[in-house]
Amino acid sequence: GPDPAQDPAPDPGTVLHRVFGHAGFRGLQEQVIRHVAGGGSGLVLMPTGGGKSLCYQVPALCRPGIAVVVSPLIALMEDQVAAMRQQGVAAGALHSELPEEERRALRRQMRDGALKLLYVSPERLVMDGTLDDLAARRLALFAIDEAHCVSQWGHHFRAEYRNLGVLATRFPEIPRLALTATADPRTVEDIRRQLGLADALVFRGGFDRPNIRIEAAPRESERGQLRAFVRAASDRSGAGIVYCGSRARAEQTAEWLRADGHDAMAFHAGMEAADKRAAHRRFAGGDAVIMCATIAFGMGIDRPDVRWVAHLSLPATPEGWYQEIGRAGRDGLPARALLLYAAGDIALARHRIAESPAPDEQKRIERGRLEAMIGVAEAATCRRRLLLRCFGEDPGRDCGNCDVCLHPPRRYDGTVAAQKLLSAVLRTGQRFGANHVVDVLVGRLTPRIAQFGHDRLPTFGVGRELGAEGWRGVARQLVAQGVLDLEEVGEHGHALVATDQTRPVLRGEAPLMLREERPTATGGRPGRSL
Ligand code: ADP
Ligand code: ZN
Repeated sequence: GPDPAQDPAPDPGTVLHRVFGHAGFRGLQEQVIRHVAGGGSGLVLMPTGGGKSLCYQVPALCRPGIAVVVSPLIALMEDQVAAMRQQGVAAGALHSELPEEERRALRRQMRDGALKLLYVSPERLVMDGTLDDLAARRLALFAIDEAHCVSQWGHHFRAEYRNLGVLATRFPEIPRLALTATADPRTVEDIRRQLGLADALVFRGGFDRPNIRIEAAPRESERGQLRAFVRAASDRSGAGIVYCGSRARAEQTAEWLRADGHDAMAFHAGMEAADKRAAHRRFAGGDAVIMCATIAFGMGIDRPDVRWVAHLSLPATPEGWYQEIGRAGRDGLPARALLLYAAGDIALARHRIAESPAPDEQKRIERGRLEAMIGVAEAATCRRRLLLRCFGEDPGRDCGNCDVCLHPPRRYDGTVAAQKLLSAVLRTGQRFGANHVVDVLVGRLTPRIAQFGHDRLPTFGVGRELGAEGWRGVARQLVAQGVLDLEEVGEHGHALVATDQTRPVLRGEAPLMLREERPTATGGRPGRSL
């Protein structure tokens, strides 16, 4: 058939059908593609799996000249090049690991006008030789993938991305398209400023992934909850991902899941490169495996049938969480996400920000994003709606596919319950963790209670109506709301301590709403952690 790339100005729709074999555009793709094909610059904010690649691949084929795609990962580049070649598009990748021989061949191809798509690492691109080479060619566009790497606010900062601002000054007439799945306003602002896209159109959309059922629950018995979730969420053929807070946790989780009869692997940055590649390959290979990973696992995963994603602790930002759960259900079929968190996670994350050496301005932003994440975890209204609002998108109605929509929690005036708990914390000297304080409230005469004489306190046994489980929920919600804090004591212990919000609640000056806690949907066994 005719090669659309040779046509002087092929229509985007034609390219989509003939080259990529897709029936139609998704979401904002068509708008972006027409804008860029017409010579405009832009910034695309779409979640993982939203279909960002076509936003530059199609205009690349609609415009004469070479399209240059900046990509931060060599593996990602190689995958994309292979896929493009399979579609019959002349594509190549230029990066530091490319042998000199192949680099020369690539340059020759460029000179002969035989190359359509050039994937390039940021450090290679901004080398004088590369820029001079490109300046001598006809260029279709620049695409800057994973553009959030330019921003220091996220944890994917790449110093080389900072130099990409040169494209705006050196090639002002060539359209530039930045793409990212990160949508928090600060990062977006950074991208626009650093990449000289202040006047470019912003395309924001497709953050809603209605096929992913989301749920969050206090971590009561991690294994029991995860086990129940895996049983409910897995199908026979798809994969699952468990995001773990640490490397050790990833290893341990993979181990007990294997002992439980699952095909589970670990993945984290501390593994040998060969082991990482092998794990990646097995995951990409399509087996029904479970990947127990740190956030090091993610960029470039394009497996459509990840059926579920679980987090074992509180993510630092809603953006991060959404990006990670967005790896589920890319095939559009029902998928699930579970977030387990505890008061300790909340306190730890807050302390981490407070004690970090970052400038105040950055701390303020990080605190804001953390509080938004806590709000999503502790939501009493549609969780998805809260989450989408973090990205500037309000669907206008509740989703019907999150745990809050499916089992709305009851809210009640928790002032009296909070006062009982707070006074137990103060009367025991702010030196004990939730379990001990709860024992005081429900009147359990443990050896420790006896040792400290806490059975003689006026608060001993004043809270029998709620039960230990209920009280732990109250304590966690008070930590989440900032009415209590957790402080480290000794090696592993945590003590509940007062904050500046404690007194107003104790004096009844600030009414306090609480969420009624039920046994989690995934049926966790009652546990002893907060
Ligand atoms: P992102 O880069 O935003 O994470 P991709 O560009 O990798 O997403 O696209 C995700 C998946 O969706 C890919 O498998 C891609 O082939 C598919 N896809 C994207 N756009 C379309 C479309 N218009 N029609 C059909 N499939 C599409
Ligand atoms: Zn909902």
